[in-house]
Amino acid sequence: MKIISNPGEQKWAKLTGRPKTNQTKLMDTVNKIFYDIHKKGDRAVKKYSRQFDGFDNDTFLVDNETIQAAASGLSEQLKQAIGLAKANIGKFHLSQQLTEAKTETSPGVMCWREARPIERIGIYVPGGSAPLFSTVLMLAVPARIAGCKEIVLCTPPDKDGNIHPAILYAAQTAGVTQLFAVGGIQAIAAMAFGTETIPKVDKIFGPGNQYVMAAKHAAQYYGTAIDMPAGPSEVLVIADETCRPSFVAADLLSQAEHGPDSQVIFLSNNKKILKEVNKELTLQLDNLPRKEIAEQALKNSKAIFFNDIATCISFSNRYAPEHLILAVENPVLRSREVTNAGSVFLGNYSCESAGDYASGTNHTLPTGGNAKVYSGVSLDSFVKKITFQQLNEEGISAIGPAVEIMAETETLYAHKNAMTLRLGDVAGKYLSA
Ligand code: NAD
Repeated sequence: MKIISNPGEQKWAKLTGRPKTNQTKLMDTVNKIFYDIHKKGDRAVKKYSRQFDGFDNDTFLVDNETIQAAASGLSEQLKQAIGLAKANIGKFHLSQQLTEAKTETSPGVMCWREARPIERIGIYVPGGSAPLFSTVLMLAVPARIAGCKEIVLCTPPDKDGNIHPAILYAAQTAGVTQLFAVGGIQAIAAMAFGTETIPKVDKIFGPGNQYVMAAKHAAQYYGTAIDMPAGPSEVLVIADETCRPSFVAADLLSQAEHGPDSQVIFLSNNKKILKEVNKELTLQLDNLPRKEIAEQALKNSKAIFFNDIATCISFSNRYAPEHLILAVENPVLRSREVTNAGSVFLGNYSCESAGDYASGTNHTLPTGGNAKVYSGVSLDSFVKKITFQQLNEEGISAIGPAVEIMAETETLYAHKNAMTLRLGDVAGKYLSA
């Protein structure tokens, strides 16, 4: 990685930018596919599956027999690992299930909020270049805890229509209700509109490449909610002299190997560490099966020297990374300065891979700077929160006159009357008592 030294703030806007795609061309493709799938349903899904995934079959539904059989194709060791990851993801997301207290805002006026599950959700599991079965756990496990009734999963098949057995096994253990061998834009459009075989869902979850991300954007336009923009992966590592250069290089490469459009950024206040990490990158890159992909991603990436860690963190806050690793002295103390990030990994032993698979936090996170305004997927993503209120006579008396004058000032006399009638009723009771 080329090392940039102490760039002034006027250069940060450019340095924190992401690789550009031709959005107009991309959205033209997405809109055309959405239009076709809306009009022609399964017939159009089939056409685009053939075109983009080389898959030509009459049905996309993966039957139960195939799903059950997947377990026999996996080692006991992998099944145990999936079990451990599922348990930790479950524990962490269950801890987010909080009951909010009821609040008496004025005497006799009780207000509270309760969560209710989103009934039908769609999960997209990327499979273009790697079978991301961990994403199945990250989405289906919290969906089950939240109480979602229907969990529809779409993932791209290979040319023979097969789906990696680990995806099938994870789907089965995590409680997915229907599974379809469809990927890319066509999968998102099918779940947004519904087709003869693929059900329409209320909200679509999951990461994906630029096509999937653009399709999720379009799904919102057609009235289906999405979790967040979760596109090509990113990591930003901040390291000082207390870091282990081989660990840092491994973390940078673990993002770079995702895809040529992934981005990794490395910041340090120590020039020797920058050089050592670069040396380690070259060494480790040579042993990676996905070397070519990682090399391309590294071309979009940057190593930057700043005089101090505080400036590194300010730069990171401007960049708003999906993943942030703080391989610095006192990482917990330093983390208080973090204002924008999807998920933060503290200290030399907290590698991103831990969160990607098995620590329990969710790996579906906002990318492209969206961590400035979006949170990653959590239990809250699978519910909506309904507010409730209950007023008694005392409550009507306490806030009634305020409501009347506010409604009158807004010229909404029916609103005012709804309160006036009740105030009259309460006053009548006291008079007759
Ligand atoms: P994918 O499943 O997202 O995309 C594959 C699909 O793209 C194919 O099925 C195909 O239908 C479609 N496609 C390919 N070329 C196309 C074209 N020219 N026109 C239209 N459609 C086309 O799998 P992937 O490609 O491996 O990408 C996975 C992505 O997910 C990576 O970018 C990775 O970084 C990202 N990711 C993000 C997160 C996160 O939380 N943000 C987590 C994990 C992975």
